[in-house]
Amino acid sequence: MSKEQSAYCIALEQLRLAAEQLNLEDGIHQMLKVPKRSLNVCITIRMDNGEFGVFNGCRVQHMDARGPFKGGIRYHPRVNLDEVTALSMWMTWKCAVIDIPYGGAKGGICCNPKEMSKGELERMTRRYTSMIFDIIGPYRDVPAPDVYTDAQTMAWIMDTYSQIKGYSVPECVTGKPISIGGSEGRAEATSLGTDICAREAAKTVGLKFKGATVAVQGFGNVGWNAAKIAYDWGCKIVAVSDSTGGIYNAKGLNPYKVYDHKVKTGSVVNYKGCETITNEEVLATKCDILIPAALENSITKENADKIKAKIISEGANGPTTPEADKVLCEKGVFLVPDILANAGGVTVSYYEWVQNLERDHWPLEEVNRRLETKMAKAFKDVVTTAKKDKCSMRLAALMLGVRRVADAIKTLGLWP
Ligand code: NAD
Repeated sequence: MSKEQSAYCIALEQLRLAAEQLNLEDGIHQMLKVPKRSLNVCITIRMDNGEFGVFNGCRVQHMDARGPFKGGIRYHPRVNLDEVTALSMWMTWKCAVIDIPYGGAKGGICCNPKEMSKGELERMTRRYTSMIFDIIGPYRDVPAPDVYTDAQTMAWIMDTYSQIKGYSVPECVTGKPISIGGSEGRAEATSLGTDICAREAAKTVGLKFKGATVAVQGFGNVGWNAAKIAYDWGCKIVAVSDSTGGIYNAKGLNPYKVYDHKVKTGSVVNYKGCETITNEEVLATKCDILIPAALENSITKENADKIKAKIISEGANGPTTPEADKVLCEKGVFLVPDILANAGGVTVSYYEWVQNLERDHWPLEEVNRRLETKMAKAFKDVVTTAKKDKCSMRLAALMLGVRRVADAIKTLGLWP
């Protein structure tokens, strides 16, 4: 993946474009350029071999004018403050676009979870939670899963937070296992939202969704669930990939079986009846809908021109660079931007938090009904803005998000 521009530079450029289009006051623009708070922590744990393991982590809180900070925690060797800051800013816009009462935050630890034991991951998660304890909490900042963190990670965070508090606080984190207060539908929510956006985009451009061909880059939580749901809705999944490479079958593949193969072998590659292709080739696959669901900067000016999909629904955060955006726009690709297309996860996280605060548990149908309504409304709001301002879906979503946050800042005023 290209590293030509840092994620934070891209986030700043996006904010600049939205601010310009909105005629945003300079003071508010300046305020939104930097996070309200960033905490760097050095997490030291005992490794299984008895030695010290030392990891750098952070929690970045961008803006909370519309409600408590909210955002995932990422474990990856590439995690750094620049990336986490960008992700925290995108969370602010995302919560505003989907219209839930949260601000944006993100956290991360620079580590290689694939090389760590479960015990080491648990100790690292608990130590990290204790080190950011003062700035998180149900009314301050509510973490959630992201790349290489999952429901188990959230359970450790909840337990550590609750042990320090002295009582159980399920509402301090979302994306938990259902047995300890997690919501029905949370595990699939991001992907369901991404597929709802792809479906609405198909309606908008006049493409038949049922039978549409789909390629998915990244076969983790978001990618695998997006492939599964699209398959269940009658789409034909022609290509998928993970960090080890990609597979292609023009006749379509069954994502459930590919998932079983990945669980057994650790990779999607070598799944029977498929051609092995590179990650670049997955992006360039002949298909109607492309779902990037891996990491940032996958679609760049080098490969954007090769994309054949008519619709892109961004499951990942920041998968497309601004230069690639221009190329895709000129090619007439209908792109549903990340801050809309992957907002389903934070939306059901919000529902989980509400259920926890009320000590309630909603059935799956209730969760999905509310999610469907929220996603369809946000999609319509963004399309309407794009038409009115004659701009791309990305700029329209950014404008909508930035405007809602700016309105909240102005209404609250400054203290003292
Ligand atoms: P995950 O760790 O479950 O999956 C990531 C997948 O990407 C893995 O299959 C990995 O093999 C693959 N991958 C890594 N590098 C790759 C490469 N170079 N090429 C192709 N595949 C590669 O993570 P996730 O939770 O599915 O998150 C994926 C993206 O979606 C991230 O950008 C994340 O920020 C975003 N996102 C996640 C959620 C959520 O609820 N989990 C919500 C919103 C956005």
